[in-house]
Amino acid sequence: MALQRVPTVRGLRQILDDARARGARVGLVPTMGALHDGHASLVRAAVADGSDVVVTTIFVNPLQFAPTEDLAAYPRDLDGDHAIAEAAGATLLFTPSVEEMYPFGPAGVLTNVSVRGITDSLEGAHRPGHFDGVATVVAKLFAMTGTCRAYFGEKDFQQLAVVRRMALDLSMPVDVVGCPTVREPNGLAMSSRNRYLTDDERSRAAVLHRCLQAGRSAVEEGETDPARVRARMAQVLAGDPIATPDYVACVDPDTFAVPERISAPVRLLVAARVGKARLIDNLGASPR
Ligand code: AMP
Repeated sequence: MALQRVPTVRGLRQILDDARARGARVGLVPTMGALHDGHASLVRAAVADGSDVVVTTIFVNPLQFAPTEDLAAYPRDLDGDHAIAEAAGATLLFTPSVEEMYPFGPAGVLTNVSVRGITDSLEGAHRPGHFDGVATVVAKLFAMTGTCRAYFGEKDFQQLAVVRRMALDLSMPVDVVGCPTVREPNGLAMSSRNRYLTDDERSRAAVLHRCLQAGRSAVEEGETDPARVRARMAQVLAGDPIATPDYVACVDPDTFAVPERISAPVRLLVAARVGKARLIDNLGASPR
């Protein structure tokens, strides 16, 4: 079926309410566009789960960018996005303007959705206000879409936890589904921001994945001290000066706190700057 583009909230609501009235199940894949196979995998997961209508949303959300970040430069490619979403099996492409999403302007939004605790560290600490922007726009997308299953990537592991918790805390009629990270053959996690990288940077950015794998090996080999796991990760990351680290971490996957000892599965996370891009990635690790 050809992919239908819908730019208005009113149009989206009408189509989805009609579809649900006919018994259709709705799948939702929120994105900021510049789609790649990671995004396509979320659409394919929604189709495979039995969604009758799959909505892919394309919106570069000003609220989640700090003034110093790459909002203006963020890649935009609506025709490319259309082709990728359609090939993956999406039925609707929701493409609202900033005015459609924020009728009073982004600075005129008086209501903020803020998830406490799990946002204190990592991305939350390095990007103040980021998760409020994410939670607020996702709450709006959930309100616009209505009852659905919504697919998010583990690539943004802390974001997935924030969205999941928000939907539960606010009794939203949305099942949040996490999907595995899609990687380039060299291990680099696919990301719209990889478009900022030169060929050399793109191949060397695989050091982030090697850093995570080193952490996982340490945990699997019996290392129970999270500080030593972090040190192993940091050592690998330091092996290529192309990456300037923001953080490396070994945390509890639910609370994002650093455990005293590793006696249960942990999440290993890394953020680093490579050239013009700030890249993040993560991996699970279980003690033997
Ligand atoms: P973004 O457009 O970067 O905001 O991402 C939109 C959604 O796609 C989020 O749920 C991301 O976690 C997910 N995503 C981004 N990159 C990947 C990837 N490499 N593999 C799987 N999901 C991804």
